[in-house]
Amino acid sequence: MSKRDYYEVLEVTKTATESEIKSSYRKLAMKFHPDRNPGDQLAEEKFKECAEAYAVLADSQKRSMYDRFGHAGVSSATGAGAGFDPSVFAEFGDFADILGNMFGFGDLFGGAGGGRRRGGPQRGADLRYDLEISFEESAKGAETSIQIPRQETCDNCKGSGAAAGSSPAACPQCRGQGQVRFQQGFFTVARTCPQCRGTGKTISKPCHACRGAGRVTRDRKLSVKIPAGIATGQQLRMTGEGEAGTGGGPPGSLYVVVHVQEHEFFRRDGNNLFCEIPVNYTTVALGGEIQVPTLDGVDKIKVPEGTQTGTTLRLRGKGMPDVNGRGVGDLFATVQVQTPKKLTKEQRHALEQLAKMLPKEHFEPRKRHDEQDERNLFDRVKDMFG
Ligand SMILES: [Zn+2]
Ligand SMILES: [Zn+2]
Repeated sequence: MSKRDYYEVLEVTKTATESEIKSSYRKLAMKFHPDRNPGDQLAEEKFKECAEAYAVLADSQKRSMYDRFGHAGVSSATGAGAGFDPSVFAEFGDFADILGNMFGFGDLFGGAGGGRRRGGPQRGADLRYDLEISFEESAKGAETSIQIPRQETCDNCKGSGAAAGSSPAACPQCRGQGQVRFQQGFFTVARTCPQCRGTGKTISKPCHACRGAGRVTRDRKLSVKIPAGIATGQQLRMTGEGEAGTGGGPPGSLYVVVHVQEHEFFRRDGNNLFCEIPVNYTTVALGGEIQVPTLDGVDKIKVPEGTQTGTTLRLRGKGMPDVNGRGVGDLFATVQVQTPKKLTKEQRHALEQLAKMLPKEHFEPRKRHDEQDERNLFDRVKDMFG
């Protein structure tokens, strides 16, 4: 099924401001909210579609990815190793979160009739863990362990919250409904039951391990497999490793957000790497071999006689591996001629001899179009190699 354009979904233009997007979303979310359209499948679809579009367009980073790459830029990639899928730019948070943030409380919709029954099975919350890794780890991939405190289902009562030998009973105040209704002017207003807080159950003998909550906080050690080629800002989704659900709901997911440390030589753009190599004037004038650092060690490459400073050499396949296994990037090494800061007597003498032999400098100033040399290395290389 093809996805509709997110801007179209939210009925805004591509240049819409953050607040325009927010207010349009708010309007549409109210209109299509399931509580206002009970049993209306189409409204529900639209509601979800809006929430998805808003999750992307409200986040400036995701929005720019979407602007550049469309749906592919913000959808989760699949594949990879056991236990997780490396979902690059995975969507964060669920609809309830977004609405919660915007309106303060979900109760806004729960109001006049038909409110969603609370206290049923609820999915556990998603968790986020920020993981810093070295540049080498991002290049080679790694396996590391992290420790996260999270809410897990209580083993003692298997999540029911009731002590051994007892079981929860229906809440007397709401008769197990989780909601109480009362008249307010013309409306019947449903509120989350204050006695059972929406669960519809009361526990006379609470489980001693979780004090009736059904969940306990535990520090859990998890092993995280980092795929080679991962970049800063990309996320690993570990399905089911978030917090335990309640009332028999499934657990949430854990999102490990990766931050890669800077490298001392290499700069990364996509899967390509860039570095600058200082060389002697004599090497580029006479031609010779230079050493270029790579991810695996050092490569020797030839520079031809008469090579100019600023020349960029390309080492194919020596860049970063693609995180989704689609090949390897290239390494671009830019030659920078070094001028000696201190000379010995002998060196000075030799250079003076050379100076006498070189033609007098009568180079013309550089032409206007050479101003591109003043732009950074990155742009120049892009021009050269496309
Ligand atoms: Zn318990
Ligand atoms: Zn109740």
